[in-house]
Amino acid sequence: IGGYDVELFVEPPDYDLICTICQGVLRCPVRSACHHIFCKKCILQWLRRQETCPCCRKPVNPSLIFVMYKLSKSIGRTKIKCKNEIRGCKDTFPLSEQYCHSMSCLYELIPCPYQGCRAQLLRRDLDTHARHCEHWRQPCHMGCGTILTHSTQAQHNCYKQLRQEYESRQRNHRAIATALQRKMRRMQSTMAHMKRQIGLICESLEVMDDLHEVEEEEDPGDSSGSFSGTSSPNGGVVA
Ligand SMILES: [Zn+2]
Ligand SMILES: [Zn+2]
Ligand SMILES: [Zn+2]
Ligand SMILES: [Zn+2]
Ligand SMILES: [Zn+2]
Repeated sequence: IGGYDVELFVEPPDYDLICTICQGVLRCPVRSACHHIFCKKCILQWLRRQETCPCCRKPVNPSLIFVMYKLSKSIGRTKIKCKNEIRGCKDTFPLSEQYCHSMSCLYELIPCPYQGCRAQLLRRDLDTHARHCEHWRQPCHMGCGTILTHSTQAQHNCYKQLRQEYESRQRNHRAIATALQRKMRRMQSTMAHMKRQIGLICESLEVMDDLHEVEEEEDPGDSSGSFSGTSSPNGGVVA
């Protein structure tokens, strides 16, 4: 990775902005002690093989090369064309904005963002592609949580679906209410039955009480009356 491609620049760049190692426009320019200028990467790579200047052959100490910030900034202000010019981008902008532009350039070749799709397309064609991409997935915009594909999107009627869910829940509630009512009615009839039984038991207890009373009243009267009380009506029999 050397300097910037000369072809990228709107105006042909000055000769002194060209790196003698890569023949590109200086990228991160550094100056050696002998005052020759190169891209930082280019000269470091060169010095790994031989520690002499590629221009004047003087010895170069790798620790004595200096980054030229001002020159770097002025190169950054130079106008360039978009690298997607051949695909149709007519934009020009400062070199320092190259990355920013590529992130929004409509002629940038990008992969389809939907998982599983292998298509490469221009950013400006993404909408058209997405309308037909079989890997297109999107959650329902109504927020029902359904993940839609192109084939299910046409049938998806969020209002209808919510209504169906609501109705099925209501049916469920109604079934529970009916079951509870049935249970209550059964309990009521059981209670009525028990009431009747208790009534019958009470009645029979009263009858038994009455009988008891009658027996109690009759017992002593009968024993005494048979000797003295019956004497008056049936006196003749005893006497
Ligand atoms: Zn270079
Ligand atoms: Zn030199
Ligand atoms: Zn562009
Ligand atoms: Zn796709
Ligand atoms: Zn929905």
